[in-house]
Amino acid sequence: MKLIPKTEHTCSKCSTRFYAPSLNDFSYGEFLLWSASGECRYLNAFEDSTYKEVIKLLEEYEKLHILRKSLQEIYGELACDPDEKNLCFHITNPPCPKCRSTEISSIGGQKIEACTVPNVTHIFWNALTYEGKKHRLNSLVNCGNDQ
Ligand SMILES: [Zn+2]
Repeated sequence: MKLIPKTEHTCSKCSTRFYAPSLNDFSYGEFLLWSASGECRYLNAFEDSTYKEVIKLLEEYEKLHILRKSLQEIYGELACDPDEKNLCFHITNPPCPKCRSTEISSIGGQKIEACTVPNVTHIFWNALTYEGKKHRLNSLVNCGNDQ
């Protein structure tokens, strides 16, 4: 759990301005994950062992296959528990409350009160065997590939 100040974001699609928690530029190794319903989770990649685990798994995978997605693109869906509505978390910008776009044109310097963001959890992932994790990765990166 982490206390993170809310910063003004401007949606690049519909120009809606909204406040959402945002890490500062010096937060190396720290990420916010967002679900499509607007839930937010915090990840410290240095403290969370699953992040290193996924990096290793991707290295193994890349010896055999071409990986068309980046670590940050797949990590949330692969290794993190979904939100209450069963929507996956992604390392991305907050979704616009009006149009749901995650394309943000600007993030203002003005901050308002901080909010508490819970840590991302890995109950499902941690219960899988090594083979189960490889299988999950395989099914995730293969869907949507042009054959
Ligand atoms: Zn918007």
